[in-house]
Amino acid sequence: MERYDAIVIGGGVTGLAVAYDLASRGLKPLLLERNDLMSGTSGKYHGLLHSGARYAVNDPEAAYECAVENKIIKEIAGHCVEDTGGYFVLLDEEEYYDEFKRGCKENQIPIKDVDVGEALREEPNLNPNIKAVVEVQDAVLYAYRFAISLGLAAKMNGAEIRTYNEVIGLLKEGRRIVGAKVFNKINNSVYEAKADVTVVTAGPWSEKIMCMANVQNVKMVLTAGTMAVVPRRLSKRVINKMRIPSDGDIVVPYGNNSIVGTTAYVIEDPDNYTIPPEDAEFLMDEGSAIFPMIKNIGFSRMYSSVRPLISVGEEIDTRKISRRYEIYDHEELHNVEGLLTAIGGKFTTARAMAEAISDLVCKKLGVKKGCKTKETKLPNPVEVLSAEQLRKSGCPESLIRRAFEKKGTIDEELLMNALYVLIASFLW
Ligand SMILES: Cc1cc2nc3c(=O)[nH]c(=O)nc-3n(C[C@H](O)[C@H](O)[C@H](O)COP(=O)(O)OP(=O)(O)OC[C@H]3O[C@@H](n4cnc5c(N)ncnc54)[C@H](O)[C@@H]3O)c2cc1C
Repeated sequence: MERYDAIVIGGGVTGLAVAYDLASRGLKPLLLERNDLMSGTSGKYHGLLHSGARYAVNDPEAAYECAVENKIIKEIAGHCVEDTGGYFVLLDEEEYYDEFKRGCKENQIPIKDVDVGEALREEPNLNPNIKAVVEVQDAVLYAYRFAISLGLAAKMNGAEIRTYNEVIGLLKEGRRIVGAKVFNKINNSVYEAKADVTVVTAGPWSEKIMCMANVQNVKMVLTAGTMAVVPRRLSKRVINKMRIPSDGDIVVPYGNNSIVGTTAYVIEDPDNYTIPPEDAEFLMDEGSAIFPMIKNIGFSRMYSSVRPLISVGEEIDTRKISRRYEIYDHEELHNVEGLLTAIGGKFTTARAMAEAISDLVCKKLGVKKGCKTKETKLPNPVEVLSAEQLRKSGCPESLIRRAFEKKGTIDEELLMNALYVLIASFLW
């Protein structure tokens, strides 16, 4: 039977970051993903590397976590980040202005007042009726570039990554989880893999995995959110409404598009839910309050994904549930050894979550190596992979040739996106 130091269940941004962190400390992790990498929430997010400002007033812990990670990710993954900066624009809730600035100051989130006239010159598509503007350090973090860089770093450090391998059960010896039973969807076989520690990073599916270990009492609130794509870049910066975090607050410039989001509605099953039909009209109204021209351009498509939030008692206003993360050690909490679960958090804070989980894994295994991911630059696949490696992996010759051509063509962005996806599919 195969044996690893750790099995990581779920290949979203959190699982990839955990596999990388553990491997970089010299451990041998196996990452299991039931579909493609990033096929859960991470591949369908809003694209925002938070500065923390959004949470400064009502969720200071999450604000602080985001502010710290914002700096780190810009440093270690510059090739995945577009450092756009962001504006918070005041439209109507004027009483929030002072509170917002106070919250940012208290949580050490850098902000700068911007004259409205200057902001409108910088961002001419903005609603001309904005009353005040504050600049923050928001940025765009391109999901697939980041994921592939994390995956590559994990592989280069010795991690094993298997896609289309679904965990269908956990192996138990007494009160200890000793591995996973896995269905390999590629060759229709079932096998068992053993590990000293099993880490659940299955996002909104984590509750299902915990149930496999008979852990029934960790409750998550599964909150779906819809985003709408405007097929045009409307601003240089990320634009947020300056108000208590609510639905339809943010427009993110993502490549040549702009993403208007989001909404929040509780669902039961992340594999079986639909986008409420009223979300299109709602996002159109909210988005065009920021950029009136959205009404003329329209949306090219809508998509949605599910937040794996931490359930706190009876709280039903999903915007009031904290976006901070938590790591559950089920030995302490539920008398189940060898099992850890990561819950909550943001795409922005995935690296920090992975650090916290990996610290705990190392503690359990008596490994003394500390985290290196804070200060180690992630590999840029296009720089790290040689044409020879791509050729060996089966990547088509025409793509390799074009990928290694000098940048500068108008198709560069499309080509790079295609390349990232292809590299991912040939590597794992
Ligand atoms: C609408 C919306 C917008 C968001 N926007 C932002 C944003 O702009 N900025 C930000 O920082 N955060 C944002 N977030 C939050 C962020 O996207 C999530 O916190 C993050 O992506 C969660 O990643 P994850 O790896 O934990 O989960 P996921 O990405 O869902 O990964 C879990 C993986 O586990 C796999 N899996 C499930 N069951 C099994 C099994 N049995 N065996 C093997 N694999 C399994 C799934 O297929 C999936 O790939 C947003 C969230 C939502 C919902």
